[in-house]
Amino acid sequence: MSQPPRALTTDPFDDDKLREECGIFGVTGVAEAANFVALGLHALQHRGQEAGGIVTYEPNEGFNSARRFGLVRDNFTKQDVIGTLPGALAIGHVRYSTAGSKGHTQIRDVQPFFGEFSMGGAAIAHNGNITNADALRRELIERGSIFQSSSDSECIIHLMARSLQKTVPERMKDALRRVEGAFSVVAMTRTKLIGVRDPLGVRPLVLGRVGSDGWALSSETCGLDIIGAAFVREVEPGEMVVIENDTVVSHRPFEARKSRFCIFEHVYFSRPDSTLNGRSVYETRSAIGAELAKEAPVEADLVCPVPDSGTPAAIGYSQQSGIPYAMGIIRNQYMGRTFIEPTEQIRNMGVRLKLNVNRALIKGKRVILVDDSVVRGTTSRKIKEMVLDAGAAEVHFRIASPPTAWPCFYGVDTPQREKLLAATMSEEEMREHLGVDSLKFISLDGLYRAVGEANGRDANAPAYCDACFSGEYPVAPSDQIERGFLLKAAE
Ligand code: SF4
Repeated sequence: MSQPPRALTTDPFDDDKLREECGIFGVTGVAEAANFVALGLHALQHRGQEAGGIVTYEPNEGFNSARRFGLVRDNFTKQDVIGTLPGALAIGHVRYSTAGSKGHTQIRDVQPFFGEFSMGGAAIAHNGNITNADALRRELIERGSIFQSSSDSECIIHLMARSLQKTVPERMKDALRRVEGAFSVVAMTRTKLIGVRDPLGVRPLVLGRVGSDGWALSSETCGLDIIGAAFVREVEPGEMVVIENDTVVSHRPFEARKSRFCIFEHVYFSRPDSTLNGRSVYETRSAIGAELAKEAPVEADLVCPVPDSGTPAAIGYSQQSGIPYAMGIIRNQYMGRTFIEPTEQIRNMGVRLKLNVNRALIKGKRVILVDDSVVRGTTSRKIKEMVLDAGAAEVHFRIASPPTAWPCFYGVDTPQREKLLAATMSEEEMREHLGVDSLKFISLDGLYRAVGEANGRDANAPAYCDACFSGEYPVAPSDQIERGFLLKAAE
């Protein structure tokens, strides 16, 4: 089917954030499963706005799929799309963009991917990034595989095709044992819904109960909430769950390892109304703000969040410090979609189109601005200018994560290392560059305390992946090393 003209759906004014690259969702045991998946993906849209896809299975119609550029609500609410996806079993995927085709996604790169095997078809949707995908792809092509996309995730389908195992779950185990890096996967056969997390559990995946007969898998609990599913538990790091005939069977395909969940999910990626490790993300972010207030106090009149992601941390900072909280900056929620293809003139207006300062509140005040992170620093500089233009007496930045000095290779879009402000400047140099009265980041230990590790970071066995702050990669990014990336010890 031909595609409608492609709209730019990522926010064209927001290139100064790390971006989670995918959200995944699956459901079984419910009539019109595609509708449930569309809702689940809609709730996960913050994890990827570029494109989405759904695959379903219905015994008389077989497998059906639809993949589209754009937002879920613009594609998968329409009867001419959703009506072509019958069945009680479905999986779906939303993406920003994954390895291989950043910024140039083609429809063939949009997941779920589908493979026809001797024992029947299977579809998979992957969140994360395979760090040895280049080597795997080379090997698979040499052995005759014909790739359809530029996505690292397609390697999983080809590895499954080469396995000699007799069932799809066993073939998946074979395939995923060859894969390095971060992966949460939802997959389906004609009868099974399957969920897997990599041995370190870098990316999230949760299991939910839908009514009395159905099951759902979702990147985050907010995907379960929207369809009225009850949270059952997180799929554990290194676990594969196979759901069939209302039964969930747990498998352990990998050697047991200490988990290293992405600590940035707590800081920024996950929705604040989701829960991680049994605790609301909102609560954790507020605790991060409180910790930041203890570590980096400053005399001021107001604590203001950089909306929206800085809000819970700003509330925590305000409560801990006793300095009043105020919405000194207001976000125009509809900005990204209003100017689908911004002209140069509009682009130059930059952040002003998206954020506006509440002058009456700010004028003459010493303002603490709380943000989740500083990546390139371009937006932080513009926000500081706006706040000073509005008459602020002082501007102090407080950042709810440590300096982001290293790129992520586990399914998050990060600029190259030299583009990260913290990779080339000290904290004082960054303060000068941003032109603020003070700049402080939460320490890595403080962040660990705020996410529930009372003793801070255990340097010998950290409980989380924190590579973008520490430069210590829990899985060696072998493709990147081959391309010349220098690990911390080799710098
Ligand atoms: S490098 Fe950073 S963003 Fe990437 S998985 Fe690790 S903690 Fe998360």
